[in-house]
Amino acid sequence: MGASSPPYFRKQDYPPPVYHFPPPAHPAHSLIFSDMNLKDLCSAYNKKYRSASPETVLADLASVADNGMTFSSSFGLEDQVITDMIFSAGLQVEIFTLDTGRLFPETYSTLQATIERYGKPVKVYFPDTSTVEELVTLKGPLSFYESKDNRMECCRIRKVIPLRRALIGKKIWITGLRAGQSENRKNLSLFIWDDTYKIIKYNPLLHWSLQEVQMYISSRNVPYNPLHDRGFPSIGCQPCTRAVNEGEDFRAGRWWWENNSSKECGLHLTAR
Ligand code: SF4
Repeated sequence: MGASSPPYFRKQDYPPPVYHFPPPAHPAHSLIFSDMNLKDLCSAYNKKYRSASPETVLADLASVADNGMTFSSSFGLEDQVITDMIFSAGLQVEIFTLDTGRLFPETYSTLQATIERYGKPVKVYFPDTSTVEELVTLKGPLSFYESKDNRMECCRIRKVIPLRRALIGKKIWITGLRAGQSENRKNLSLFIWDDTYKIIKYNPLLHWSLQEVQMYISSRNVPYNPLHDRGFPSIGCQPCTRAVNEGEDFRAGRWWWENNSSKECGLHLTAR
């Protein structure tokens, strides 16, 4: 089942780029949350920050968000870039992860390496114990292979419901989505109104290429999941993720047995 392609991530391929830390000073913030509703802020932010660097935008928004910004990380390459930007600049942004209980050992190692590297906590959300117990008791530990409904049920219990808890009281949800990751994501905007969770979604690396992400990781010596070097461009739960072969789509290794799936788990289903 493993990929036969060359290592997915080879540090030696990339020249050292120049990055500027801490982020440059930014002008006084003119679009305060209380000035208009959050939905209107999305289009305002898309205009205001069209050409700004992620570091600038993150610092700008964190300075006015009053702890209302949160970042969901699954420790993929893009997530590790954003984590480095947030922790290195000391921004007031919570970083959280959803521990489904089915993650790869390498993912836990990456969490540990991240905590040690930055000396800062990553908040962990678990699914509800009794609901997971009931699911596994009634349907077994591998029910997600039997049907898409079963798979969505498992994702809902282990990911979506904990995500709802993580977003309570937050105004801006930062994600590691990139336009180049899949067809579903190529027309996204930098800022999106998420009507499901009633929150502004900010995708700082939306227009970054994979090579730019890799260069950042390499130049800053950011810890990353070693599975990326073994053919796993997108890493989720262990039983639902496989390595991809050369030429396969970025998300091809996720729920690969579902031929017509949109390859999303319910976390990122909202509009552009
Ligand atoms: S990715 Fe698989 S194991 Fe993880 S929550 Fe979804 S169905 Fe369950």
